[in-house]
This record gives sequence, structure tokens and C-alpha cells, in this order.
Amino acid sequence: MAISFFKQKTESEQVENHPIIDLHEVNKYYKTAVGDYHALEGVDLQINAGEFVSIIGKSGSGKTTLLNMITGIDRPTTGEVWVNGTGVHGLNENRMARWRGKNLGIVFQFFQLLPMISVIENIMLPMDFCRTYPLNERRKRAMDLLELVELADHAHKLPTALSGGQQQRVAIARALANDPPVIIADEPTGNLDSKTAESVFALFNDLVAKGKTIIIVTHDSGLAKRTHRTALIADGEIVNEYVAKAMPTLTASQLLQATKTAKILTYEAGAMILAEGTNADTFYIVSKGTVEVILPRPNQSDVIALQLRPGKCFGEMEFFHETKHRASIRASEAGPVEVLAIGYEQLSELLDQSEATHEALRQMANKHNGENLSWRGVSS
Ligand code: ADP
Ligand code: MG
Repeated sequence: MAISFFKQKTESEQVENHPIIDLHEVNKYYKTAVGDYHALEGVDLQINAGEFVSIIGKSGSGKTTLLNMITGIDRPTTGEVWVNGTGVHGLNENRMARWRGKNLGIVFQFFQLLPMISVIENIMLPMDFCRTYPLNERRKRAMDLLELVELADHAHKLPTALSGGQQQRVAIARALANDPPVIIADEPTGNLDSKTAESVFALFNDLVAKGKTIIIVTHDSGLAKRTHRTALIADGEIVNEYVAKAMPTLTASQLLQATKTAKILTYEAGAMILAEGTNADTFYIVSKGTVEVILPRPNQSDVIALQLRPGKCFGEMEFFHETKHRASIRASEAGPVEVLAIGYEQLSELLDQSEATHEALRQMANKHNGENLSWRGVSS
């Protein structure tokens, strides 16, 4: 369905190359009877406009706390939270509510519709609060939004007359009332059966296609896999998503350990990262840009054997097979590169804790070893 009633972004609104959500070194402590509880620890998270991001992690790991930092429902103890160009960490209570109403649509697990007023009135409420649309347009807009979520027929019912899935769709229509660029949803499908969850997820997908930025917390790893990116949170810390991609069989706390041991290295476009023949002592995961694996061939020009994008790794072949590098590695000419470096000793410690990851890396090393030999014209 066409939804022409979402305004187009003007050029000044599209802050080129700036993430629409930017958390910088965010720490959150809760005061408890037994002292401060460190609920978020040094969280850095950047989300670009138009991204569909899922946040996953065990119960109590800090997901809701993280969303509350973004929505301004709660504040970081230290650190900065920027949303659509506004420093949310510095907004006072007075300005917060109206800012939130215009910039964010929030969807909760238990819908939180007002039970005493009709469905359409629930959707008009945020427009009344922020005065974003002229009084005489609000009802029409609410009706259009109900049509978008395929509930126009239910406009004048009380929310309790609707099923859970329908109520959640009303909540999404309400979240869209002021046409915010960002939608934040905390376990929006957590209270729905899988078929209904699917239809709510499909609605989010449509909204992303129409340019919205969406962040959902979910327990459903199947749904999480279908978003653009997944941020895993463990004990209040964010696991590096490329570490998670490279070693998917590690547990959350092992991934966190790997994230913390990894050193971040950056290279200019075209720069040499490793030279063939040098000693190997480090395992690398690409986290930004494209890395090229270059093989020398006897009496022929060098060849780019592989291009590695974020989440791919190198240095595992030498870990299992050799002590010297058998290929040169460089940043592609296309742009700068960032890699995460984990020393072989620390890699050994990690692999000792995870038979599955050890086996997966060993198989990858064997495959690359075979490819390496055949490129060189050596039959294996
Ligand atoms: P999640 O959403 O991942 O289940 P939360 O962000 O709700 O986790 O909570 C993270 C941790 O912080 C939990 O251990 C929780 O008990 C604690 N916590 C959350 N809110 C408060 C609070 N207001 N006061 C004290 N501790 C809190
Ligand atoms: Mg929660």
C-alpha cells in the first residue's frame, strides 16, 4: 500500500554519514540495597538511518536498559547518547517528552494502549500531545495509519475487544502517529504466537523498506537473523558483531571475552597488513572494509585469491598449519580497513573452551590450505 502520508526527508535532515543513533561509552549504574549495579558497561553502538537492528541477549543482560537510554526513559550514568542529532543524555524532563514524541515511536511487549478510549483515539493521542498535525487532519491520519496496519474496521472499538496481535498493530500505528524517523520496540512479539509474531515482523519490514530506522529487542533468534544487523549483549556489554559472525558457535560470554581481548587495528586503502613469509602469531577478523589475500605465483604475477569482507577472518590457516604467512594480506584500494586482532595464545584459550568453534576454524584452515596450495600450483 502507498503511504504518501510519510513525509520525505529534506536534505538537511539526512545527516550524511552520521549514524542516526550513536551511543558513546555509555555506563549505567542502578542504585540497589547492596550497592551500585553496573547494568551497562562502556556501550558503544552506532546505527545508521534505514537500518533494521535486533538486540538479543539473556534475560537481565541489559537490553531494556539499553533501549531506555535511547528513548530517554532513563539516563546514562556516564557517556553520551545521540539520536537524530539530539544529545538525549542532556535533555531536561520538560523537553524530553515532546522531543521523544516527535522523534521516536515506541512499541512495548504488552502494547500499553489506553483501555478506556477507542483504538483511533489511542492513535490520535501522540498527535494531540505534540501538535504535529492540524487538529482537523489528525483523525484522517489516524485512520490512514489504521489502514496501513489493516485494522481500519476496528477503529471505534476499545483496545480490549481486539486480539493481542491486533493490539500490537494498533500500538505500531500509534508509534507512527507523528511520523518519527526511529521506531524502538522492546520484545514486540514476545507475547504473540508465532504466526501473529510473523505478521508484526512483516509490518516492521515494510516500514524499514519505507525508510524507517527500527531497533527491536527479541528473544526469537530466527527473527533476529532476518534483520540487517544483530547486536548481542552479555552482562551489560555489547559483543562485537563481527566477532560473533566469525565465531558463531561461541557462547555469549565467550564472545564477550573474545571482544575484550581483540585489538582494533586500522589501515589506509591499499596498505599492506601482513607480508608473505613473515612469522604468524595473530588471528584476524575483518570488521570494516575489504581485505585482499594476495598469493605470489612462480613466474607469474601475484593474484588476488580472496576478498574478505566484515565477519571473515584470516590467520587461522597459519594457526593450524604453519608458523609463517603463506599469503600477503592488504587493505583493498576501495577504502580504509579495520580488523580485530587476537593473538594465537588468546585464540588457543578461546578454542579450548569451545570444541565446536575449534572444529569450525580447523575446517576453514584446511579448506584455505588446500586452496592456497592449488593457487600455487602445488598439488595437495
Ligand atoms: P533485559 O531487558 O535484558 O532483561 P534489563 O535491562 O531489564 O535486562 O536489566 C538489566 C539488569 O539491571 C538486571 O539485572 C536487572 O535486574 C537490573 N535492573 C533493571 N532495572 C533496575 C532498576 N531500576 N534498579 C535496579 N536494578 C535494575
Ligand atoms: Mg527487557
